[in-house]
Amino acid sequence: MRFQPWNVVFLAGFIVYVTIRGVFKKRTQLNVKSVNRCDGLEKALLLMVIPGGLLLPLIYLFTGWLGFADYKLPALAPWCGGALMVVALWLFWRSHADLGQNWSQTLEIRQGHQLVKEGVYKSIRHPMYASIWLWSLAQGLMLENWLAGWYALVAFGVMYVVRTPREERMMREFFGQEYEEYVGRTGRLIPRFRKERASF
Ligand code: SAH
Repeated sequence: MRFQPWNVVFLAGFIVYVTIRGVFKKRTQLNVKSVNRCDGLEKALLLMVIPGGLLLPLIYLFTGWLGFADYKLPALAPWCGGALMVVALWLFWRSHADLGQNWSQTLEIRQGHQLVKEGVYKSIRHPMYASIWLWSLAQGLMLENWLAGWYALVAFGVMYVVRTPREERMMREFFGQEYEEYVGRTGRLIPRFRKERASF
């Protein structure tokens, strides 16, 4: 293993990140789905994001296989990464907690699905995706390797661009006017506090 202090900090954060996801996945596994939009494109996106995003950092930390992509980061970078990581983990946890039983890893609506509009969903529609953006950026700023550091940001970026409009379309179809009004008073990733401002 690479025992540099920032690698150890990253690994600790990584364990927290994976644990949060694991706990909520277990809590929601018995949910019955009434809408399932997990098609070929969605499966391809999940396949691009999850194994690479999880395995590359571990391969980097525990083997020398990715040595060809090592590089040096400025000394300030991991400090910024560490700060982002704390915010990302907090938001990742809060968004899972606020969605509760309505959370799902893919594009699905469960029986009895409620539109969550409170907590971290009050002014942002995609706080969980915001937390993954922050997490991926933190990863790039903490791991001194082009692949292990930046793959997650690029892969999640593609997923975000493709998935978000599809998710919003599904929510619109299911929740109709209620979702329309929710969109009108929230930002996608950046909190929206004034009604007339454009949605980001
Ligand atoms: N895009 C959201 C949620 C990601 S999890 C975020 O970034 O925070 C994806 C699932 O969450 C979707 O399949 C949908 O079923 C559910 N979902 C998304 N927004 C929701 C909301 N405001 N209320 C309830 N469920 C929501």
